[in-house]
Amino acid sequence: MISESAIKTIKESIRNIPDFPVKGIQFKDITTAIQQPLLLQMIVDQMADHYRKNRITKVVAIESRGFITGGALAYRLGAGFVPVRKPGKLPSQTYSKTYDLEYGQDALEIHQDALQPDDVVLLHDDLLATGGTAMAALDLIGRFNIRQAYCSFIIELDFLKGRQKLSPPFDVTSIVHF
Ligand code: AMP
Repeated sequence: MISESAIKTIKESIRNIPDFPVKGIQFKDITTAIQQPLLLQMIVDQMADHYRKNRITKVVAIESRGFITGGALAYRLGAGFVPVRKPGKLPSQTYSKTYDLEYGQDALEIHQDALQPDDVVLLHDDLLATGGTAMAALDLIGRFNIRQAYCSFIIELDFLKGRQKLSPPFDVTSIVHF
C-alpha cells in the first residue's frame, strides 16, 4: 500500500509544462521530483514496497524516462533489468512492435533472450497516458510466454483511460493520478 502522505509529496513535486512538446499537451515533468534525493528514494521505495511480495524476477523498463526509476526499482526488488528501446538501439537480435502515435507510428524493441518462461515481470515507465506505449511493450513481453506481468507507473493520466486498454489481465499500479 502506497502511503497517502507519500503520494501527496510526490504529486506536488511534479512540474506541469503546458503545451509541451505540442499545443494542448500538459507535460508532466518528473525531473523536479527525481532531482531531490529524498523524493527519488520515496518514489522507488514506495513502488518496491508495493511489489515486494510478488517475487518479481525482471523489471522491464521503457526508454528513456522509464530507465531512471526502473533501474533503481530492479535493484531494490533484487530483480534483473531489461530495457525496451527505440528501434536500432539494441545490439543483439530483437523482437519489434510497431504502434500508433497521435501522429504517425513508432516502434519498440526487446532483446530476444531478455526473458525466460519462469520470469515474473514488472513493466515500468514514468507515465501512463493513452496506453499505446505500454501495450506495445506488453506485446513484446507476451512473445516470451512468461508466468505473469504487472505494470507500474509513477504517474497515470486517468482521463485518457490507458489502464482500460491494459486490463484485464494486467495489474496496474500508479503512484500519482492526474
Ligand atoms: P501513451 O503511449 O499515450 O500511454 O504515452 C506514454 C508515454 O509517453 C510515456 O513513455 C510518457 O513518458 C510519454 N508521455 C505521454 N504523455 C505525457 C505527458 N502528458 N507528460 C509526460 N510524458 C508523457
